[in-house]
Amino acid sequence: FKKLELTGSANDELVQLGNTFNSMIDILKNNFEKQQQFVSDASHELKTPLTVIESYARMLKRWGMNKPEVLEESVEAIYSESVRMKEMANQLLSLARHDMEQAVELSQADLLQLGEDVVRLIQAVHDRPITLHSEEREVGAFVDEQMMKQLMFILLDNALKYSTSPIELHMGCDDAGAFFSVNDRGIGIPQEDIPHIFDRFYRVDKARSRETGGTGLGLSIAKQIVDAHAGTIDVNSIEGAGTSFMVRIPVKTLR
Ligand code: ADP
Repeated sequence: FKKLELTGSANDELVQLGNTFNSMIDILKNNFEKQQQFVSDASHELKTPLTVIESYARMLKRWGMNKPEVLEESVEAIYSESVRMKEMANQLLSLARHDMEQAVELSQADLLQLGEDVVRLIQAVHDRPITLHSEEREVGAFVDEQMMKQLMFILLDNALKYSTSPIELHMGCDDAGAFFSVNDRGIGIPQEDIPHIFDRFYRVDKARSRETGGTGLGLSIAKQIVDAHAGTIDVNSIEGAGTSFMVRIPVKTLR
């Protein structure tokens, strides 16, 4: 990333062109460094479950035949770490796809309908109450339906992971656009962690997040989806009391 060395007066056209070139180099360099950091973080994160799988496989090889308790513990650990790795691989793919800004397919959709679909899907697996509230009969928005469902899924899945109480999904619309919030009464997020939760691989409590199968990628994907719709995502959380994520999708979703 070699920059141009510029001499001449500031209103010289060539100097101005050179300055533009140099700022583009800065952007490229910054993106390249971010990409490198991401590859290195991703390799590190994928290595952790692999190391666990390797150690349990070694234990199985040595003692698995004679000790049923070793057999049981190892199979359980290998299974759950493989599931986590698969989840991480899927999420990494999802991030890469969105990074390349692969076609956001916008169409007129009803967020209420999408919300109902996602809640139904989750409740087929989890036996936990999720209530969907809205004063509207329809919450129209111009969105990529698959991405919107993924976004709702991520927020609801987190609410399930980090709480044991009922979860609420509120939806509505006003002149500015459509909005929805996911509210739980779970463990909450410490104030000092809030600025980082949308960063890739960031987890407040690594041990707890591992237990729940977390990868630290969900909220970064959520942010990416919201950005692709020129929307906003805000969080309100009180430790020990609960968390609320609010998403707003403006009427004009094109960037
Ligand atoms: P993870 O896969 O670890 O859940 P996310 O990117 O989805 O990763 O979330 C980042 C971190 O933010 C989580 O590890 C968790 O500590 C915190 N978090 C996210 N949602 C909630 C929530 N509803 N309640 C409490 N903490 C949450």
